[in-house]
Amino acid sequence: MITSVGEVLIDMIAAEEGNLKDVKRFEKHPGGAPANVAVGVSRLGVKASLISKVGNDPFGRFLLERLKEEGVNTDGIAIDTEKHTGVVFVQLKGAKPSFILYDGVAYFNLRREDINFNILEDSRIVHFGSVLLARSPSRETMLWVMEELRDRAVISFDVNIRRDLWRNREEEMFKTIEKAIGLADILKVSDEELKLLEGEGIKAEGRLLTAITLGKEGCILRTQEYEVKIPGYPVKPIDTTGAGDAFTAALLVGVIAFREYFTESTLMKIGRFANLVAGLSTTKRGAWSVPRREELMKYSEAREIFSKL
Ligand code: ATP
Repeated sequence: MITSVGEVLIDMIAAEEGNLKDVKRFEKHPGGAPANVAVGVSRLGVKASLISKVGNDPFGRFLLERLKEEGVNTDGIAIDTEKHTGVVFVQLKGAKPSFILYDGVAYFNLRREDINFNILEDSRIVHFGSVLLARSPSRETMLWVMEELRDRAVISFDVNIRRDLWRNREEEMFKTIEKAIGLADILKVSDEELKLLEGEGIKAEGRLLTAITLGKEGCILRTQEYEVKIPGYPVKPIDTTGAGDAFTAALLVGVIAFREYFTESTLMKIGRFANLVAGLSTTKRGAWSVPRREELMKYSEAREIFSKL
């Protein structure tokens, strides 16, 4: 089983062009990077769980229902009796996506007592996003879980630098992210994030594997011994939202397929699969756009992985 730890939230996506200030209509979508990864893993045919927190409200119930429909185990999702489910308002069109994210919501209130260790103990890989690190008490909880799991599970971390979440706390942001990187076996980082981290003197490496995403150019997979660059899968993208999360889901499934055994050949196979899944996800709208295992069987890159699971 692969378990994700992090936010699950409502994305209110602007249904029309224009600044958030002027937008009149929004569409409600389930989102949150770790939740997207869990759904991707489940669609690829591997058992998936999510550890998170939602409010005791209609949005929380909607998210639990949608995750269950996707086959994700929701036993690790705590219900907050005080805080509401997280909501983000997003304008995706235009040069730069803009969003409004609310503090004081359930996922930022994730506490030690909310963590279901039975689920974590059953997990081969536990994946973390970086949003929980931006606020307390979710930050302390997340770093504590990562430390507790060290040497007990493979820990994956997606750097995903979101400056607007940290506002004027850039130094604290880099320090906290560096701490989480230090606890990661598998690190996923984009090429731009890698440059930023290196500029700060931060070594961005996973103990086992580092995956660097390059947008349409594909990815680089790096271990202590090997480095391979795998070209992107040629597609005509219509919406790249969640491409990084689709990539992570497939990367982790690939890692499980080869039981963390990395050679140039297995890395190439994992990278081809991750690029295929992420590339295809950009041809559908929304963050939950990973194709299902059955649809992928026509691709040799996917059969190579599924035959090992
Ligand atoms: P985020 O979703 O947060 O932007 P990210 O920065 O990791 O995450 P990208 O590097 O843009 O995302 O994309 C992740 C992966 O998705 C790439 O490594 C690639 O496999 C695939 N991908 C993204 N854009 C394209 C594209 N235009 N054509 C083909 N594949 C793509």
